[in-house]
Amino acid sequence: MRKVIYPGTFDPVTYGHIDIIKRTIELFDFVAVTVAINPAKKPLFSVKERVSLLKESLKEFNNVSVESFDGLVVDYAHKVGAIGIIRGLRAVSDFEYEFQMALMNRKLANDIATIFLMPHEKYTYLDSSIVRNLAGLNSDVSDFVPPSVQMALKKRFRRKSK
Ligand code: ADP
Repeated sequence: MRKVIYPGTFDPVTYGHIDIIKRTIELFDFVAVTVAINPAKKPLFSVKERVSLLKESLKEFNNVSVESFDGLVVDYAHKVGAIGIIRGLRAVSDFEYEFQMALMNRKLANDIATIFLMPHEKYTYLDSSIVRNLAGLNSDVSDFVPPSVQMALKKRFRRKSK
């Protein structure tokens, strides 16, 4: 079984992430979507909330799992028996950071490949932080995130503005 992991912050999951996941399961047998616990970032949603929003958004797929992890991505890949790390590439602006990460991960674990996939062009300008900003300004984000995420954003910002 050819298994890969798709690590990220997913704060929150967007249709761009889901597009990458759909492309991944056409190429591999199983994808473990992994929410990174990054203490340097101050996320809007807790790890538990991000995992549960991903689970809800991906429930139609049976060859996808959602977990969280703490530590090195390559260690996690080894632990779950994955052969590679999936990352999404949107624009040239993603390239430098992704290039550095991919080469560092290869240095750490030569047996784990990083595989880049490009989303549909309609998602190339989309990222979680734009969605958070729009939702915070009460703008409609239904083109960018699944309904459960829309609801969670509404709730979160309603609470914040109180
Ligand atoms: P990270 O903090 O690891 O970049 P993100 O949740 O922002 O976490 O992104 C996780 C992965 O998904 C990254 O590889 C990123 O490039 C990719 N990604 C994010 N948004 C999109 C999108 N709209 N289309 C394609 N890939 C995306």
